[in-house]
Amino acid sequence: MGWFSSDHPGHEGYVVGLVPRSEWAWRELTTGDDGEHPLRMIAVGCDCGWRSPRLYAPPGTRWSPYIVDLPTKTDDERAYRIWWHGHIENAGEVEPAPTLREEADRIHEVAYPLAERMAVRR
Ligand SMILES: [Zn+2]
Repeated sequence: MGWFSSDHPGHEGYVVGLVPRSEWAWRELTTGDDGEHPLRMIAVGCDCGWRSPRLYAPPGTRWSPYIVDLPTKTDDERAYRIWWHGHIENAGEVEPAPTLREEADRIHEVAYPLAERMAVRR
């Protein structure tokens, strides 16, 4: 079901479905998330824990327990290329520093719930 490369054991790529956890944060769909429904956001992931930045899902993308169905073969190929060129080509090398965008997303997800809690406390 996932993408393998015999030259890179320990890595299996796949598409991750994302749903809102709060106004500012997302969580990954996993086993236990039953029911079919459309997806607005996805990421490309790997069994080793690697994740691409969040991506807008192509229209027609669906969660169908327990996989993400992309609408076309071209979309599947795009996702595979993100896994391959964004991760597997460099697997085994030192992890690159996060990009400015990844770091901004991470801070955004941490900072906004914190700001909400602080606002409630006043
Ligand atoms: Zn991997």
